[in-house]
Amino acid sequence: MEPDIWYNGEFIDHEDAEIHVLSHVIHYGSSVFEGIRCYDTDQGSAVFRLEEHMQRLVDSAKVYRMDIPFDLDELVEAVVDTIERSGLRGCYIRPVVLRGEGPMGVNPLENPVETFIAVWEWGEYLGEEALEKGVDVEVASWNRMAPNTFPAMAKAGGNYLNASLVKMNAIKNDKMEGIMLSTDGYVAEGSGENLFVVKNDTLYTAPTGLSILPGITRASIIALAEERGYEVEEKKIPREALYTADELFFTGTAAEVTPIRTVDDYTIGSGSRGPVTKEMQDAFFEVVEKGHDPHDWLTFVDVP
Ligand code: PMP
Repeated sequence: MEPDIWYNGEFIDHEDAEIHVLSHVIHYGSSVFEGIRCYDTDQGSAVFRLEEHMQRLVDSAKVYRMDIPFDLDELVEAVVDTIERSGLRGCYIRPVVLRGEGPMGVNPLENPVETFIAVWEWGEYLGEEALEKGVDVEVASWNRMAPNTFPAMAKAGGNYLNASLVKMNAIKNDKMEGIMLSTDGYVAEGSGENLFVVKNDTLYTAPTGLSILPGITRASIIALAEERGYEVEEKKIPREALYTADELFFTGTAAEVTPIRTVDDYTIGSGSRGPVTKEMQDAFFEVVEKGHDPHDWLTFVDVP
């Protein structure tokens, strides 16, 4: 049986979590959501940076003028309750806030705001082998949206039409992922991941102003790298710096820390996972697998 889904403050059966075809979200993409992971760590089940994810959800909703009738603490508690009720020790967590059924038309202000939280079991997004060997990617022909088109810092459903185009093209071209450039031609991010370039032991990543989603894994890797003595620069990265990098890796809730071995068929570094990428993976997995939590990033949940 699939786990129960939290809906506006109550639990409902998985099968009953339905919306009407005339809901605003279906026609106009009016949802905001999160992707969060609960890990079965050596110290017990724990959610990685739960509060930061839910704060990003609240911020995304604010940008789209959606009033969620629950505060941050209540939403955090709702996630914990949903996991505990599911009995899943490790899972992917998907809170989504959407505009439901109401007057038909672009204006969403009269449509109800509905909040759902679902959880399910999920393995590595880009494949287990990818974490070790790395993935083949391309520079996408679609750009990341310009800052004055869609708010890139909001994790909104509609943004993922752009991301889907990037991902579909990559798959059609036998690549695992596409790297989007900003509208002024600088490296932005993958369809569902942030990107790091390693060159001469310095880590570079696009600044948050450059139409990227401010990833929570990205922020965690910046902190872990700096603690280990690496310099990290958030700056505009030209496309060719991808091809000449010593190492490249993606970060994200789903992708975790995934090495990139080729871009547009250029071999990156040695063509397999580099030492800095490995060090960052180890640092990340020390937290989420071993449950070693000096930063207070884990919220432990009670799953027997
Ligand atoms: N960029 C995009 C477009 C994403 O969808 C994601 C996944 N949420 C990320 C970056 C990575 O963000 P996070 O580390 O918070 O999962």
